[in-house]
Amino acid sequence: MKKTPFKTESKRLLDLMVNAVYTHREIFLRELISNASDAIDKRYYSAMQKGKGGLDRADFEIRLAVDEAARTLTVTDNGCGMTKEELGANLGTIAASGTRAFREEHAGEEDLSVIGQFGVGFYAAFMVAKKVQVRTRAEDGEGFLWESDGVEGYTIRPQEDLPVGTSVALTLKADEDGQDYSEFLRPYRLEALVRKYSDYICYPIRMRNGDEDKTLNSMVPLWRKSKSEITREEYEAFYRENFHDTDPPEVALHVSAEGAVSYNALLFVPAKPPADYFTKEFKRGLRLYANGVMIMDASPDLLPEYFGFARGLVDSPDLSLNISRELMQHDRQLTLIANNLKKKLQQELLRIQENERERYEKIFAAYARPLKYGLYQEFGLNRDLLQDLLLYYSAKSEKLVTLAEYVETMPSEQEKIYYATGETAALARKLPQTQAILAKGYDVLCMADDVDEFVVKVLFAYREHEFQAVTEAGEALATDAEKEALQQARKENESLLARLKAALDGKVSEVRLSHALGDTVACLACEGGLSVDMVKVLRSMPDQPELPVSFVLELNPNHAVFAKLDALDEDVLAEYAALLYDQALLMAGLPIEDSYEFSKKICKYL
Ligand code: ADP
Repeated sequence: MKKTPFKTESKRLLDLMVNAVYTHREIFLRELISNASDAIDKRYYSAMQKGKGGLDRADFEIRLAVDEAARTLTVTDNGCGMTKEELGANLGTIAASGTRAFREEHAGEEDLSVIGQFGVGFYAAFMVAKKVQVRTRAEDGEGFLWESDGVEGYTIRPQEDLPVGTSVALTLKADEDGQDYSEFLRPYRLEALVRKYSDYICYPIRMRNGDEDKTLNSMVPLWRKSKSEITREEYEAFYRENFHDTDPPEVALHVSAEGAVSYNALLFVPAKPPADYFTKEFKRGLRLYANGVMIMDASPDLLPEYFGFARGLVDSPDLSLNISRELMQHDRQLTLIANNLKKKLQQELLRIQENERERYEKIFAAYARPLKYGLYQEFGLNRDLLQDLLLYYSAKSEKLVTLAEYVETMPSEQEKIYYATGETAALARKLPQTQAILAKGYDVLCMADDVDEFVVKVLFAYREHEFQAVTEAGEALATDAEKEALQQARKENESLLARLKAALDGKVSEVRLSHALGDTVACLACEGGLSVDMVKVLRSMPDQPELPVSFVLELNPNHAVFAKLDALDEDVLAEYAALLYDQALLMAGLPIEDSYEFSKKICKYL
């Protein structure tokens, strides 16, 4: 019979498998058992959904069988089985999630030391087998035998008299130079492997040993064990296996709740956001089990968008198995669980923030954006949950601080929380206005994310202290004497300011004098609440209608350049005005209209 060759990429993975490091080979069994368990889940779940009676959980099992003489190990399940098409698609190419992720992460790597942490799938069988035979029949379908030596390709042919389900028979490789494949024929070894890797599989994994038919796994899923029995390593191993990550999670949280609704949950915060986290393909949500049976892979209702980076699962005996998707979205129990879990996760994050600051900074760096968007998008609705998770760079202490820490170190007369925005926190710190406020003895929060200013606007205040942009703070901070001097200067320069405004010909709505420009002569501000940085962000968004912003040119009356202005002729004054305006644009990080004109003028006056 002619063999169908494997797809090229599958072939390569196969080569890796066959040559994998000896000690990693044992995970093949875990992979086969986990496939068997998935297949049973599928069959059971679809029967429940169709309202088909007659199938009980107790009817399902995974069976290991050994034939020493033939050197075969067979893993049999009575799950959903595969049709002929599925056989070709599933076992002839690497279509499978786990395997694909593996391939992407490790393209080109010959070292497979990570293999044990990964779901490498069905192909793992070829690490120990020289021949694999899959006998399978789907409900209402015909039976087939898929066979392969893992090198040339595979064949599929009809096979009579198969029960519904799948059996995977491995003919083990011959033992050679200390490489012992016969170990996978020894019952005690198989039992140990089941305990090590597949103990929480919720269907019995059985094996006949002499006269005894033994269930090898304890079947209690990790999340139903008591916390005190579980080690950190077990949580980590569970996370890696189930969520296909090579790094241990930064947070592993185990919640057991009883009350209005009882459930067990495991929540993990990955060390890094998943590769597709910022794409549309990303599927947020927690895996949902009803009494140990998975009913949904990622239920988005269980996890708010701002905690969408968390992974994990929820298992509740109170959920009925055959609730349909639509109904589930409105399920009161799910809402209760979701509300409870988001609080637990917040508390855990705060705990880390308090006790392990460095670790928290790492977590925050990875997930600051979703947290901030969470605050902004729902108009501050989640403030109680999210605002204390924020960290900002303090201009005074030059490290990250929480809003609470900022407020706690405020001098008693300070009323507002000052913040500065910039391309980077360091640039925000350099702003003359920031420096002026620092000189007063007040701290300034330096912000560099696009969304920061929106967050601050939405929060409005923290513990009754309003947020105040340093660029708008000058007036309020000035002493009476300073205010008076400014008033005086404004009066004296009234006609000069009007001339400058006229020279700028509609580019600005006002030219005014300001405190707190430090050693700069001119600076751009915005009329009406928005800051220049915010305008920049809004303008950079796609599909935004042109913003009706009016800029104000602020001038420093104490600057040497300003002192020269009044004496200038009208056309020279116009050129100065244009120069001041352009350099204020540049300083704000905005494009200038005509850079050629700008540099010409600079050279002229240099
Ligand atoms: P993964 O399990 O990560 O999807 P695998 O390579 O292990 O990747 O399996 C590929 C696919 O083959 C599975 O997604 C499943 O559809 C199918 N499959 C494997 N084993 C079985 C089985 N015992 N019963 C039914 N289908 C199976």
